[in-house]
Amino acid sequence: MPELRFNLATRDWTIIATERAKRPEDFAGKPAAVSSDSAANCPFCPGRESKTPPEIYAVRDAGGWKVRVTENAFPALRPTGDPRRSKDAFGFEKMDGIGKHEVIIESPDHEAIIATMTQAQVDEIYLAYRQRFIELARDPRFESVILFKNHGRGAGTSLHHPHSQIVATPITPRTLRDRLGIAQDHFDETGNCLYCDLIKMEQAAKERVILETDNFIVFTLYAPRFPFETWILPKFHHSNFDTISVEQCRELALIMKKFLEKLYKAIKNPDFNYAIYSAPTKERDLEHFHWNIKLFPRITSMAGFEVGSGIPIVTVVPEAAAAYLKNA
Ligand SMILES: [Zn+2]
Ligand SMILES: [Zn+2]
Repeated sequence: MPELRFNLATRDWTIIATERAKRPEDFAGKPAAVSSDSAANCPFCPGRESKTPPEIYAVRDAGGWKVRVTENAFPALRPTGDPRRSKDAFGFEKMDGIGKHEVIIESPDHEAIIATMTQAQVDEIYLAYRQRFIELARDPRFESVILFKNHGRGAGTSLHHPHSQIVATPITPRTLRDRLGIAQDHFDETGNCLYCDLIKMEQAAKERVILETDNFIVFTLYAPRFPFETWILPKFHHSNFDTISVEQCRELALIMKKFLEKLYKAIKNPDFNYAIYSAPTKERDLEHFHWNIKLFPRITSMAGFEVGSGIPIVTVVPEAAAAYLKNA
């Protein structure tokens, strides 16, 4: 019997196609994404630092830089302009594309991926995330900071060299606003944070939990949008990612690396996106919102029913996906 499942945090329904369900291992045959841009003319490789916009942050040792942050050479938004909205003669509304768009170059090694890096290297990446997030969240011109990673062509990356991106926007994205509203409703009805409640529910159910440390938990989603969709949450309540301590950030780097290693082994280096969802920068210490990371493997594509209805059909049962990843 196919199952319709409800996602409490997004209020989206998902169809778990149990009858058409694939075993998680059916996704293991997919070959790793092939690099189509070589190190030979890569702007992120050591020795070509002059090819990137100016450096904003870097960690160096005797061997050279380990992590570098620069402005994006082709930014989606730029830091100068008029922050006011305007309407044209027909009533259409717009504003200048003010914002900041940075690239976090994760390693000097063109072929490196987080799943196979040293833990020390992954720590540096996550500490760079923290630093840049803190800095951009402080800037009064911006309302939201979105940190994300695209891994592989199927996840939208245009450069093979391992990197993440961070974008500060002068508006709050609608998706985030929706999530905040849903969490606010839950808080009004129950007096609890929805995400703290979800963590308790997942810990009690056990069957979707993949990894847990003192401060973090990783589980596949009960009602996912993508096969193997996984959420990573701090077990301590906080609404803004930029309040994370250095110690907590290292623990996050540890659990992310462990999880990405499992994903890499279990489904053979799949394309994926992950993103940090944090409350708008001027809305601090919210009781009803809880920052989180969502990871979406990009191993299937949307078809007509999904585009037309917004209801995904997921062909891997989330409990089977969790068991498979846990054992990888
Ligand atoms: Zn490179
Ligand atoms: Zn919470």
